[in-house]
Amino acid sequence: MSESTDSPSANATFEQIGEVLRSNQSFVLLSHVRPDGDAIGSQLALGFSLLAMGKSVRMINEDGLPENLAFLPGSERIETPPAEPLDVEVAIALDTATKPRLGEAALHAASRAKLWLNIDHHISNPKYGHYNLIDATSPATGEILYDLITALDLPLPPETRDAIYVAVSTDTGSFQYPSTTARTYEMAADLVRRGLDVGTINSQTYDENPFRRLELMRALLNTLERSPDGIVAHWEMREQTRLDLALRPEDSEGLIDVIRAIRGVQVAVFFEDLPDGKVRVSMRSKDRELDVCKIAMEFGGGGHALAAGIRMKGPLEEAKQHVLTAIRKRVEETRKHS
Ligand code: AMP
Ligand code: MN
Ligand code: MN
Repeated sequence: MSESTDSPSANATFEQIGEVLRSNQSFVLLSHVRPDGDAIGSQLALGFSLLAMGKSVRMINEDGLPENLAFLPGSERIETPPAEPLDVEVAIALDTATKPRLGEAALHAASRAKLWLNIDHHISNPKYGHYNLIDATSPATGEILYDLITALDLPLPPETRDAIYVAVSTDTGSFQYPSTTARTYEMAADLVRRGLDVGTINSQTYDENPFRRLELMRALLNTLERSPDGIVAHWEMREQTRLDLALRPEDSEGLIDVIRAIRGVQVAVFFEDLPDGKVRVSMRSKDRELDVCKIAMEFGGGGHALAAGIRMKGPLEEAKQHVLTAIRKRVEETRKHS
């Protein structure tokens, strides 16, 4: 695919995006199913900036607001999709690698929008908007929005400030992943100067785990396996565990970092039974050569080189075999090349 700057799929400039934001009045902001901190944080960040500009804004997510992000100021504005399409001029997809990942009901709600903006940091994003702002080098969509808002001198109210911080903190493993740059820390410093309460927001983000999340970790540890060479570690969550512990979708968020952190492990994988019978696969890599986005794309998923996911056909046992075989193949190939 051509990536030349004059191709229709080229990125829009901040000015072009700014023109769309300034010249329209009504917006619907969307993010991916099973939203994480960057998805919800990005919606609130841009949403409250637009509200401060006097715009009419709806913030819709297929699955609604996860309980663990309800501390974010303004998060009560996040709604599940209304049954009837919204009367809006512009739809803005945030942090969402492919359009279907917005969810069917959310897409229906946004179906009257004439203009689509697509702002994201997934390398696998096919640029499905009329205007696209895709920066795969950015650690979080929240950081792209910070750059956009500050470059265009748009309002940055407290809701936007806190949401950007949480978006970037959660997508960088608390400012730890290699995607974190000096600019990321400079951004965080600027947000603190703008009044962000670091201690409070971090404890709200990381020190408020429901007990069932720890019970889930115990159940996951009982399924932990590692390949004989120690390179691949995986664990899994069956439907029965979800029912027994009355788990919510967000309870497993981030737990994969526990097995990613094992010495010698290059690829960590988490398999999860979904209520619809599909299987969610979460992958993390420590090595850019072992690009988990490429593996995810073999199964219709996507993401980033070091963090990617798939929603695939079950049962879990079969999905596991297919994915682990594909990972093993990549591991062998990488070995040959090095
Ligand atoms: P997760 O493992 O769910 O935290 O996802 C890791 C990264 O891959 C995130 O940036 C997700 O947005 C992305 N991702 C997860 N699942 C999919 C999917 N089915 N299709 C495309 N991207 C995905
Ligand atoms: Mn996300
Ligand atoms: Mn993200």
